[in-house]
Amino acid sequence: MDVIEYPDEMRAWSREQRAAGRLIGFVPTMGALHEGHASLMRESVAQNDVTVVSIFVNPTQFAPHEDFDRYPRTWDADRDLSEALGAQVVYAPSAQTMYPEKYSTYVTVERVQDHLCGASRPHFFRGVATVVAKLFNAVQPDRAYFGQKDAQQCAVIRRMVRDLDFPIEIIEMPVVREPDGLAMSSRNKYLSEDERQRALALSRGLIRGQELLNTGERDSARIIQEVRMQLADVETDYVALVDAEEMQPVATVDGAVVLAVAATVGSTRLIDNMKLMPGRSGGQAPRLL
Ligand code: AMP
Repeated sequence: MDVIEYPDEMRAWSREQRAAGRLIGFVPTMGALHEGHASLMRESVAQNDVTVVSIFVNPTQFAPHEDFDRYPRTWDADRDLSEALGAQVVYAPSAQTMYPEKYSTYVTVERVQDHLCGASRPHFFRGVATVVAKLFNAVQPDRAYFGQKDAQQCAVIRRMVRDLDFPIEIIEMPVVREPDGLAMSSRNKYLSEDERQRALALSRGLIRGQELLNTGERDSARIIQEVRMQLADVETDYVALVDAEEMQPVATVDGAVVLAVAATVGSTRLIDNMKLMPGRSGGQAPRLL
């Protein structure tokens, strides 16, 4: 497996693959890889001839007061896992390579980024869309794999790819959870044993929301209120029901929605969500998308 650090070298590698008729799958990550990332990598390896994994902790998606400096970095283990799962390349540019002096160009995806994490972290999606556009230009993949764990990020990337004509298919993969329901996240490493237990409130809240939809409840305010009750033991940032495409709040659930929660546990901000398609008439079980 190769490690590539510069966009021109990355593009040259991809050009060779394409000339040989190989399909390129791409899994962008910030490292500290876990089973959630592994599920994306396995799917890419299964669906494509070659797979590139990027590992880059992107400074432009962190605000100054956030955890950029202490974000977990586990380079050796990440490289070994990427290789073991069958990736051909780890693309790991430096921050200086990605954002040289006088860097001044950013991608903003309007509307889709406005609510949920976009409201709490106003800098965030501009950083995400910009770095993913740059990674796409370097790797030039046929398919790129993202986790529904970050459902709004998926919606933002899908819209960017459509609006800016990136010739890339976006594949969304289901949320991978610990056996007790906690969504896997590189930030779970920050949690103490007590916080780890309290963090279960997020997935419990989502399950409560899913139950309500199951029993035919379609009123967003009532669902949100019940989910919030499950989050009594953590500091809730938001509980929201949004449509699955534009990520706009809905008053009544009548199509594909994302039930999304964000909360701080101790000093760790966690997010989780479920993408749900309720049945046409009340009482029908919602399908997990
Ligand atoms: P990150 O390294 O946190 O930026 O995540 C890189 C990719 O892995 C993103 O597309 C995430 O949505 C995805 N991912 C992270 N955690 C999970 C998880 N628990 N299940 C599925 N995908 C995940």
